[in-house]
This record gives sequence, structure tokens and C-alpha cells, in this order.
Amino acid sequence: MEALRERISFLRGLAQGLDLDGSTQEGRLLQEMIGVLGDLAENVTRLQAAQNQLEHLVESMDDDLVRLEDDVYEMLPVDDVIELTCGHCGETVAFDTDIFFEDEVIEVTCPNCDEVVFIPDTEKLEMIRKDKDVEEGSEPSITSLCH
Ligand SMILES: [Zn+2]
Repeated sequence: MEALRERISFLRGLAQGLDLDGSTQEGRLLQEMIGVLGDLAENVTRLQAAQNQLEHLVESMDDDLVRLEDDVYEMLPVDDVIELTCGHCGETVAFDTDIFFEDEVIEVTCPNCDEVVFIPDTEKLEMIRKDKDVEEGSEPSITSLCH
């Protein structure tokens, strides 16, 4: 950035050395162009400073986020296993609570009959519960999610 400012200063010096006549069209044009270049360099310098501040801010937010994630994961129960009974074949299906924290929704299927026993997605759970409520008019247990 300093190099750019130096070059613009050099241009200004050149223009002065040439004794540019600002009353001619060409002289006026060159003086204006040098002025615009100076303004551009100022603006770019300010933008760069703002960009640097933003980068520092994002970096510190990223650090905070990593610490927050570590804290949250430390508070979560580890190696917890949930056991469900498959409503289709009666097989006991065990799965790790880790699946609740995966980015993608992972359905739990029965290893015996391949039926879906559990969908760890609250929205889907809501929908299924509502459907069941309408059909049966009762509060379904978690095992009734098996088709
Ligand atoms: Zn089953």
C-alpha cells in the first residue's frame, strides 16, 4: 500500500516538474486523474484497515466459538446408549446418543427387520406425533415411531 502511495506522490512530482498547464484540456485531464488516483489510494487504505479489524474480530469470534463448543461438548453425556424395542419385530435396538449431535439426520433402523425405529429430528418427530395423535388420539411412546 505504501508503494502505491509513493508512486502517486511520484506522479504528482512529475506533473509539477512538467509544469502541467491546468488551463489546457490535456493538463486538466492529467491533474484530475492524479487527484482521482490519490483519492482511490486513500479509500483503499481505509478499506484495508477496516478489513484487518474485521479479520481480527472474526478470528477472535472463531476462538470463542471453539471454546464454547468444547465447553458444551464437555457438558454433554458421553457414551450414553439408548435402547428401544422395535415395534415391528420386537428386537431390542441399542444406539449411541452421539447420533443426536451429528450434522446429518441419521435414522436408526432395526438390524433384524430394517424398519426405522428412531428418527433423531425434532421436526420429523413432531410431525409423526401429530399424525399418530390424529389416528389414535393418544400420546404415542417413542417405540411407536416404528412403522
Ligand atoms: Zn425390527
